Amino acid sequence: MSHEYELEVLNPATEEVVATVPAASAADVDAAVVRATKAQALWVALAPGERARLLRRFAVAVDEHLEELAQLEVREAGHTVGNARWEAGNVRDLLDYAAGGVERLTGRQIPVAGGLDVTILEPLGVVGVIAPWNFPMPIAAWGTAPALAAGNAVLLKPAEATPLTALRLAELALEAGLPEGLFQVLPGHGSVAGNALVEHPGVAKIVFTGSTAVGKQVLAKGSALLKRVTLELGGKSPNIVFADADIEAAAAAAPMAFLDNSGQDCCARTRILVQRSAYDRFLDLLAPGIESVLVGDPADEQTQMGPLISKVQLERVRSYVTDDLGGIRGKTPEGPGFWFPPTVLTGVDPHARVAVEEVFGPVAVVLPFEDEAEAIQLANATDYGLSGSIWTRDVGRALRVSQAVRAGNLSVNSHSSVRYWTPFGGFKQSGIGRELGPDALTAFTETKNVFISTESTEA
Ligand code: NAD
Repeated sequence: MSHEYELEVLNPATEEVVATVPAASAADVDAAVVRATKAQALWVALAPGERARLLRRFAVAVDEHLEELAQLEVREAGHTVGNARWEAGNVRDLLDYAAGGVERLTGRQIPVAGGLDVTILEPLGVVGVIAPWNFPMPIAAWGTAPALAAGNAVLLKPAEATPLTALRLAELALEAGLPEGLFQVLPGHGSVAGNALVEHPGVAKIVFTGSTAVGKQVLAKGSALLKRVTLELGGKSPNIVFADADIEAAAAAAPMAFLDNSGQDCCARTRILVQRSAYDRFLDLLAPGIESVLVGDPADEQTQMGPLISKVQLERVRSYVTDDLGGIRGKTPEGPGFWFPPTVLTGVDPHARVAVEEVFGPVAVVLPFEDEAEAIQLANATDYGLSGSIWTRDVGRALRVSQAVRAGNLSVNSHSSVRYWTPFGGFKQSGIGRELGPDALTAFTETKNVFISTESTEA
């Protein structure tokens, strides 16, 4: 088998080969669509309660293999073991939550003269989910769980670097009793297998999570077929700290708000905006928090931050952090692995690349602001609009700033932004559409309106 047709999965903490996986070709995608179409017809013919029961069994299977899945994520993605366990648990919870929606996916009855008018929410058919490497399990499940629950088949294309947990999830689905072909995983190259899914007329919707550049291509190609497309793209999220906030709490929370998952998080709060009157105090409190982050073996329970995913990503992150920039730097282990230290940059021009572009590494900038108006102006001064945090004790200010920041997911005096039962998605260049939350299943349906006449047809 030539290298072109296989994926080499590396452990990012050791650079050792974990596995070699055959890569799907465009012909493999064609065959998978045929199998998925047949499986979807069987699936949608089942009683809703039966579909829900099978999805719950899938959730149980994930729960029973939670540790195995977590350890696989540690090896293929370098995630800390604590995070990896949360991620496998998130897949279980998403399946459970979606299963609860199967019997609740109701249409409407709309008043009309001379008959009855009802809407029916029908599944789309075959859905393609294209996932990135930064959260391989949760992001795959964000699309897959509600799509299955709404009666669709799913073809999942994991990222090149991280196919292993996805492949294991597909095995667990089969063990749980989901029909063969209903949920298939197609590991492969984006330009081959990913592109084949986007261009396939038998795939009704693409759920894409990844970079803005590739997302735009997916949208353009999907539009040519009038395909439904949702995009979850990048971010450059602000963490706005007003002088009236609990500065100790804000400084204590700031490090992991951008260092979690080594900063490879589309919601990472990488632009720390601090009101000038609290700026020095905030930095004094922040420095020990950055310097003491435990960076190292992701399998160690104590570790807070692991490596970056790949050499390419390491080089990319390095290109943003030039030697002339001052700030706070943490520590990394010696030896093999794709390590980059926790880094906070100060004195950066607000228009500099590192201040406005997504680095996708453990790098944040701290920028001072004078007043609320300048905080809002700085917060909105990027092409992205995914998430953000606002630290203040003033309730009116918290609401005003929440209304003024153009982003899909905000938190006040907290950095939380992703829960499977609340909607998630981006403004501006951060995406199109929403995932998760109470409407997640509806996004995988077409609404059909049916009018039934009550006029008598008797002569
Ligand atoms: P990427 O865009 O390179 O790849 C994402 C996925 O798309 C991969 O599976 C890849 O194989 C596939 N792909 C690549 N080219 C393709 C093509 N031409 N046609 C179809 N599919 C193709 O991104 P990445 O490097 O894997 O992930 C990192 C990026 O994802 C970051 O920019 C990050 O912000 C973003 N991201 C966003 C969210 C979100 O929810 N908004 C979540 C996670 C990651």
